[in-house]
Amino acid sequence: MEILSHNQEPEKIQLNFEFLNKYHRNDENSPLKKNWKKLKKQLENGEGETDYLKAYEKMTDPEIVMNDFPVSGDKIGMFLVRHFDRDDLKMGLIDRIDLDGSTVILMLPKDNDLHIDADQYFVPSEEFSSMWDRWDRDTRDKISQFVHRGHSQSHWYTEKYTEGKFIRMPILISNQNYDVQNRAIVENKDLKEFGIDYLEELPIEQRREQYILGTLSHEIGHTWYTYIIERNPSVEVEWKKYIDKYGNLTGYAQMYEDRNPNHTKDYNENFAEAVRLMTTCPKYLEKNGKKEVVDFIKSIFDIK
Ligand SMILES: [Zn+2]
Repeated sequence: MEILSHNQEPEKIQLNFEFLNKYHRNDENSPLKKNWKKLKKQLENGEGETDYLKAYEKMTDPEIVMNDFPVSGDKIGMFLVRHFDRDDLKMGLIDRIDLDGSTVILMLPKDNDLHIDADQYFVPSEEFSSMWDRWDRDTRDKISQFVHRGHSQSHWYTEKYTEGKFIRMPILISNQNYDVQNRAIVENKDLKEFGIDYLEELPIEQRREQYILGTLSHEIGHTWYTYIIERNPSVEVEWKKYIDKYGNLTGYAQMYEDRNPNHTKDYNENFAEAVRLMTTCPKYLEKNGKKEVVDFIKSIFDIK
């Protein structure tokens, strides 16, 4: 395989990313493909409910599966128990929380400047890391922008994918070493530049772990948005009203607005960020005069 160096032509840089093709989201071994197959099997077996309350009543605690993850299982368990209500967690219809540090998620948008096919790739961390070691700083910085930390599968709840049925689905939290935000924390960069300056209210030694735990909260927030906020129009209207009034809650949520061709706010992303803040930097929203946002979410979910 070609090894990247500063003076190679773009054509050769392209060759360097061929290893990604093995880890396409539709590859048999990709976690996404496996989850998709499982969903199809569940539907074939007649699982899932057309009535949300029935699906909710059948819910049990999510299974937590850990593989090479930087935060211990004890800490994850304590975090969930401390901040979330058990019945609220069931509202997200989460069947499994996969904390999988052995996978790097890459999401390449169209027209990315790395000449890689736009798509999602689930790359084994070991292989990613050996490529990482060969890339120069500039390539690393570019790649980092496309590394995702987590994934909630609740957006599969649609007429097309789940036949409109409410069905248990997993959350995947992946490797936390190569994305822009985790690198900014580890490398002690200006956090504001990376949309995560809320972490400044925490002691330096706690920031990384709270950021990773916050990513879990963020993904739980997405499941709640799918099933509780979005499905109840009057609730969603109220939520949007707060975001329109106060603006994006974090620089990270602002990035979604900036990247959107129509420059509209991403209300779902803001909700996920609010859940992150309330469980990891609880004073941040109130300090910034956004207590109404906290009160609104607490009127629905018992977040501590
Ligand atoms: Zn998100």
